[in-house]
Amino acid sequence: MTENSAVAEAEALVAEAAGNDDGAASEGPRFTLELNQDQKDIREWVHGFAEGVVRPAAEEWDEREETPWPVIQEAAKIGLYSFEALGQFWADETGLTLPIANEELFWGDAGIGMAIMGTSLAVAAIFGQGTPEQMGEWIPQCFGSADDPKVAAFCASEPDAGSDVSAIRTTAKYDEATDEWVINGQKAWATNGGIADVHVVIASVDRELRSRGHAAFVIPPGTKGCEQGAKVKKHGLRASHTADVHLDDCRIPGACLLGGKEKLDERLARVREGKRAKSQAAMQTFEASRPTVGAQALGIARAAYEYALEYAKERKQFGRAIVENQAIAFTLADMKLEIDAARLLVWRAAWMGRTGQKFENAEGSMSKLKAGEVAVWSTERAIQILGGNGYTREFPVERMHRDAKIYTIFEGTSEIQRLVISRAISGVHVQ
Ligand SMILES: Cc1cc2nc3c(=O)[nH]c(=O)nc-3n(C[C@H](O)[C@H](O)[C@H](O)COP(=O)(O)OP(=O)(O)OC[C@H]3O[C@@H](n4cnc5c(N)ncnc54)[C@H](O)[C@@H]3O)c2cc1C
Repeated sequence: MTENSAVAEAEALVAEAAGNDDGAASEGPRFTLELNQDQKDIREWVHGFAEGVVRPAAEEWDEREETPWPVIQEAAKIGLYSFEALGQFWADETGLTLPIANEELFWGDAGIGMAIMGTSLAVAAIFGQGTPEQMGEWIPQCFGSADDPKVAAFCASEPDAGSDVSAIRTTAKYDEATDEWVINGQKAWATNGGIADVHVVIASVDRELRSRGHAAFVIPPGTKGCEQGAKVKKHGLRASHTADVHLDDCRIPGACLLGGKEKLDERLARVREGKRAKSQAAMQTFEASRPTVGAQALGIARAAYEYALEYAKERKQFGRAIVENQAIAFTLADMKLEIDAARLLVWRAAWMGRTGQKFENAEGSMSKLKAGEVAVWSTERAIQILGGNGYTREFPVERMHRDAKIYTIFEGTSEIQRLVISRAISGVHVQ
């Protein structure tokens, strides 16, 4: 065969494959890590805001330990803080846009990032459990308007119910005479707790059933009996407000039960008959939200890595840049490696969640666990590379390290993620 005829034959094979109507070949390559134009545009948009607005404000709001309302307003003005933007991120069928946007924003600063993204916890609960009418009514109220932005809070944890959410003591009792729910209890560590317009509260309607007797309620703005308790002073993420929330005889309309009473009554009846509750569905929802949290941790890790890399090229000791020492260069190589590996886990889980794949091996937990631990480790290494400067508040890596630590604690501690993964892979109820 001549070279020309070989080329012609190859071209014919390619053309045949392209024209093959058995489906598989005509879809093109099934696996790609190449981002599409929309994803690239959103990444650039969020990065621009993170670089131009968030990063320059980070130190100030960390020191003030207050919600950065002017930055939230800026984000609302450009449409980044809005239910439309969150909807657009979520709409991406590959699932990657939501983690990409989170990584970029938290690259700017995690405290301000959480002040902007904290609302999405409550939104996720309304989206996951509400009826279409409830979504239409409450999700826009979580954000307010571009001129007058509001925040929302998701309140599950309590002083005696952190990792063990089944121990929740807050109760919700139905008052048939008025068609109202009466909520009583105390919530702990709520992001935006007390300053939120909309609070989503997890309460027990039947404590004997433990977590299977829980339901989610919307507490509308200005409801009597819903008050902020102590504001928490924190190690990191200090631009994000965290506080206890007290619920004292808090009366809310019957329609504020997410999903509606009929559905709740059906579920409780099933559980009381001894049938299995559909706990797998809740588990799947949790697994699906974890890659987004992992992406936030990735943003912090990447910010610290990039800062340390530039510093190592500039800083001279013994007559050469410190990056010329293997000890420093190999650390930076490992940081890059770990961050990229964590991102692959985050993207895999985000894609699985969005495309409805079953998390057979707790892939959502894997992504959050790895990204959280990489963030803590990378930011600590960044401090080491900056030496004395790294330990001071004159340089941002110590703040990044303080911010990173929460990612091995909230949304399920590292131990709880390992528990979930080990149970999933072994089928054994590991304690
Ligand atoms: C800044 C911040 C923001 C937060 N935001 C919110 C929010 O918006 N809404 C909300 O509802 N909650 C929020 N939380 C609460 C957070 O989710 C909890 O702190 C977290 O779930 C851990 O619970 P805990 O603090 O009670 O720790 P504990 O459950 O008391 O755990 C303490 C330690 O014991 C370990 N442990 C517990 N059980 C086991 C086990 N079975 N096996 C092995 N180890 C175990 C844990 O891993 C941990 O190391 C927030 C917390 C913080 C600090």
